[in-house]
Amino acid sequence: GVTFKGLLKKNWLLIATVLSVVLGITLGVAVREYATLSNLHKQYFGFPGEILMRMLKLVILPLIISSMITGVAALDSEVSGKIGLRAVIYYFSTTIIAVILGIILVMTIKPGVSQTADHISRAGTTPNVTTVDTLLDLIRNMFPENLVQACFQQNITKDYKIVGSYSDGINVLGLIVFCVAFGLVIGKMGEKGRILLDFFDALNDATMKLVHIIMCYMPIGIMFLIAAKIIQVEDWEIFRKMGLYMVTVLSGLAIHAIVCLPLLYFIIVRKNPLTFTLGMAQALVTALMIASSSATLPVTFRCAEENNHIDKRITRFVLPVGATINMDGTALYEAVAAIFIAQLNDYALDVGQIVTISITATVASIGAAGVPNAGLVTMVIVLTAVGLPASDVTLIVAVDWLLDRFRTMINVLGDAYGAGIVQKLSKRELEKMDLVSEVDVANPF
Ligand code: ASP
Repeated sequence: GVTFKGLLKKNWLLIATVLSVVLGITLGVAVREYATLSNLHKQYFGFPGEILMRMLKLVILPLIISSMITGVAALDSEVSGKIGLRAVIYYFSTTIIAVILGIILVMTIKPGVSQTADHISRAGTTPNVTTVDTLLDLIRNMFPENLVQACFQQNITKDYKIVGSYSDGINVLGLIVFCVAFGLVIGKMGEKGRILLDFFDALNDATMKLVHIIMCYMPIGIMFLIAAKIIQVEDWEIFRKMGLYMVTVLSGLAIHAIVCLPLLYFIIVRKNPLTFTLGMAQALVTALMIASSSATLPVTFRCAEENNHIDKRITRFVLPVGATINMDGTALYEAVAAIFIAQLNDYALDVGQIVTISITATVASIGAAGVPNAGLVTMVIVLTAVGLPASDVTLIVAVDWLLDRFRTMINVLGDAYGAGIVQKLSKRELEKMDLVSEVDVANPF
């Protein structure tokens, strides 16, 4: 049976993480109330959190490379093609569902109609981003001209970094494309390719062991991360002004996470979605705290494989790609924000423009990198496509640090459900492979 002690032992890390969030909030509020700190001292507060971020980002590179190469090489090209296609269909359909959900909500709740408009100041300029540029950048990034450079490139141009799927200096999309090609070639080499496959497989195991160590530090890092954020927020009043808008975004995200994704999972996989979501809890809290799907990726892997028992041949494929291009939360958010801005401007949208918003919101979410606030920048695409002033992005900047966290959480959840669903759809192929190869390096179970 399940004892309380057993539960505690199995979930201590999750419990500690949730506790650290509560402690961090308490600490942040207390310091805000009772201490007057200089800006410098405020920054020191975030230091343990900064270390956590650095450690998580550190393992992204070996993790993506080793998981993608082994993931692809372990499958034959026909199977990996099928799995890839299923994943892409999943990414697309769930993103569209999220966008439609967002549009329905924002048109019903109408958070931007009259009242709020006068309170929100308009100021500042925004980067110049267009749909074509984003798409070209996206494709350009798929073909890095230099492999080493793709691993640490800093700021070719400012826009590149955020729009072109660069995550903290790593050209993730470019590496993924390279690793898929490289993995396919290794897989076809037979005996001779074995040594490379073994190498990357060992690299993957070693990296995941590192991830485990980092996760033990997580509660401490997260506590200070959230405390520092609370200490540093300058304007709480803005939340009241933007209340209805935030409610719209957050309820859309909640419905997507509690109804849409679980329902799809239940229909296809026929298992309890609640258990699945709970299994991802550690990754969800992490995403909420650090607002980056890429940096959450190591934790997403661990939760999906250890708690939800998803086959490594699936996770290695579906999760890294999903973290870069599958962003349900971001897509929903962009659609809501665009229509909110239209409402603020008394700008009537016709059906064609609403369709345009749903398409560009989808493109913008694919083009956004898995780093904090990326969705805010690609938002400009959606606005310009329907003729809204791009500078109006500044209206929603003040609350983005909070909404960013929640949409990142849904982005991560969407990737995880994708792995679960694609695994179910690919059951036949996976079983056939198990029969063919008795020694399968990629299969841990
Ligand atoms: N921060 C989000 C993510 O990493 C992207 C966004 O800004 O919407 O998934």
